[in-house]
Amino acid sequence: MRDAETAWRNAYQHPGPWNRTFPPLSLVDMFEQAAQRRDQAPLLDFLGRKYSYAETLDGARRVACGLKDMGYGAGDRIGLFLPNVPHYVAAYYGILMLGATVVNFSPLYTAEELAHQVADSGTRVLFTISATALLPTALKVLDDSALERLVVGSVAGALPPTKSLFYRLFRGSEVAKRPHDDRITAFSALIDNDGGCTKADIDATSHVALIQYTGGTTGSPKGALLTHQNMSSAARMSAALDPKLGEVEDRILGVLPLFHVFANTCVLNRTVATGGEIVMLPRFDAAQVLATLDRTQANALPGVPTMYQALLDHPKTAQTDFSSLRVCISGGAPLAAELKARFETVTGAKLVEGYGLSETSGVASCNPYEGLNKSGTIGQPMQGTRIALVDKEDPNSPPPDGEPGEIVVNGPQIMKGYWNRPDADAGVFIDDAQGQRWLRTGDVGTIDDDGYIRIVDRLKDMIAVSGFKVFPSEVETVLYRHPAVKEALVIGVPDTYRGESPRAYVTLNKDATATEEELRDWLNGQLGKHERVDQVVIRKELPKTLVGKLDRKALRIEAGIA
Ligand code: AMP
Repeated sequence: MRDAETAWRNAYQHPGPWNRTFPPLSLVDMFEQAAQRRDQAPLLDFLGRKYSYAETLDGARRVACGLKDMGYGAGDRIGLFLPNVPHYVAAYYGILMLGATVVNFSPLYTAEELAHQVADSGTRVLFTISATALLPTALKVLDDSALERLVVGSVAGALPPTKSLFYRLFRGSEVAKRPHDDRITAFSALIDNDGGCTKADIDATSHVALIQYTGGTTGSPKGALLTHQNMSSAARMSAALDPKLGEVEDRILGVLPLFHVFANTCVLNRTVATGGEIVMLPRFDAAQVLATLDRTQANALPGVPTMYQALLDHPKTAQTDFSSLRVCISGGAPLAAELKARFETVTGAKLVEGYGLSETSGVASCNPYEGLNKSGTIGQPMQGTRIALVDKEDPNSPPPDGEPGEIVVNGPQIMKGYWNRPDADAGVFIDDAQGQRWLRTGDVGTIDDDGYIRIVDRLKDMIAVSGFKVFPSEVETVLYRHPAVKEALVIGVPDTYRGESPRAYVTLNKDATATEEELRDWLNGQLGKHERVDQVVIRKELPKTLVGKLDRKALRIEAGIA
C-alpha cells in the first residue's frame, strides 16, 4: 500500500497565494469594522428601500440588547426562519453580538421538519415574519416543542428610511392573532431599546457562529458547527475572488436564500467584508430579477444553475440590458457546459462555477473571474485552501493513478464538527501526519494538469448493480445528449435480480414528443450492461430544493426508497 502521505503531498493549491492566512476575526468585528468605514453607505437595497451600514448596525445592536433583556446570552441557539428580508441581517448580526449561535432554517420546512431541527439544535428563540406561510408553521412548532419564544417581524407597511429605521420599520408589526401570548414578541418590541448594552466577548477561532443543517454525505440531517473564524475566512476568500474589487462598484444581487450557506458566505458576509451593497430579493422570480438588474445596475449575481436557466428561458431576457452585469457565480449543483456558454453569449457576463459544502462554510474552490474559466470544472482551490483526492474505499491512501478519488479539503473554513454527533465526526475528518485536519466531502472528482477540479459523482448516490458501482451522473450525462431531454435524475431502485437498478426520471423540452420506451431503448443502446436502466419515466416536473438543485433525495422519497 502506498504511503498515506502521498495523497497530501499531491494536494492542489490555489495558484496564487494559496497559503494566505486569515488572521482570526469574528463576524461581529468584521461587521462593526465595515460599519465604521462605510457608515451612511448602503448595505441593503430591499425592493428599493436602502438601509445604510449605520442603520443596520443600530438594528443589530438593538436585537442583541432585546434578547439580552429577555435573559438570553452566550451559547444559546437562536433560529432564523426567514426569507431574504432586512430582519434577517439585523437578527443575524444581533444574535452573534450576543455571543449566541445562529441556527438557519429553510423557509420551506414543514412544521415536522422545523420541530425536529429545533429540538435537535436546542433552539430557544425563533425569528420569523408575519403575512407569510411561515408564521402558522412557526406557531405550530411553538406549541408542540420546547421552543420558548417567537420573534415576529412584518414587512407590511414598511416606512420610508429615516433615522432609527429598524425601529420605525418594525413598529407596525402585528403579532398574529395571539395578542396575549407572552411567548410571542414583536420584532418592534424586541428592538425598542437604545442598543447600548455590553457586547459579548467572542473568541473567533472556537466560538460557534452558525449551526448549518445539511444532509451531509450520509443519512439524516446533521448540524455543521461553523465558527466565527470559519465563516469570516470563507467571506474573505469569496471577496478575494474579485481582482477588480475597489476599482468597480460592488453591488451584488442577493436572490439566493440567505438560510443557505452559499448565500450566507457569498452574498451576505462577503459583501460585508468588502463594504459593498446587497440588492436583496425575497425569493427568485425571473421577471423580478431582470427588472431589478435594470433598476439597480447590480453587477454580480451568485446563483444556482436552474436560476440561470430560468433567466435564459424568460421572454423578457431578449430585451434586457445586461451591460452592468460583470460576473455570475454558479454553485450548489453542476453547471452544464451548454448552459454556461449560452448564458455568457446572451448576457455578455462571465459565468464562473464554484463548489462548496455546508461543512466548508460554503466555499472550497472556484474558477477565476479573470483567466482560464473552464467549463465542466469547479475551478481551483480558494485562497488558503488545499484540495486532494483520496481513495474511495480507503481514505488514507491516494487513488490509483488516473482514477477519480474522493475530494478532501483543508483550510480555515472547515467546520469544527457536527453538533452532538461524535459518531459522524469520526467518519468525516482525516488527520495527516502534520496534524492538519482534512474534510471528506463525499464527492468524487479528478484534477487536471492545470489544477482544475472536476466532480464526477457523489459517493452516497452510487447505485450497486449486481455488485458493480454505477454513478447516476454517468447515466444522466448520456440522457442530456438526447435532444428531447431537458432535465434528468437517476436513482437506484430495488431489483430482485440485480440488487439495484438505475431508473431515470426526465422532463422534456418544449414541443418534444419522445416516449418513455423510445428514450429507454435509445439510452440503453448507449450504456454498458450494468448501467442499463429498467425504466425511463417522463415527468412534467422534477423535484427541486429551495436553492433550485434537482432533488435526488425527494425523488427517492417519492419512489418510496429513501
Ligand atoms: P450543501 O452542504 O447542502 O451545500 O451541499 C453540498 C454538496 O453540493 C456538495 O457536497 C456537492 O455534492 C454539491 N455541489 C456543490 N457545488 C457543486 C458544483 N459546482 N457541482 C456539483 N456539485 C456541487
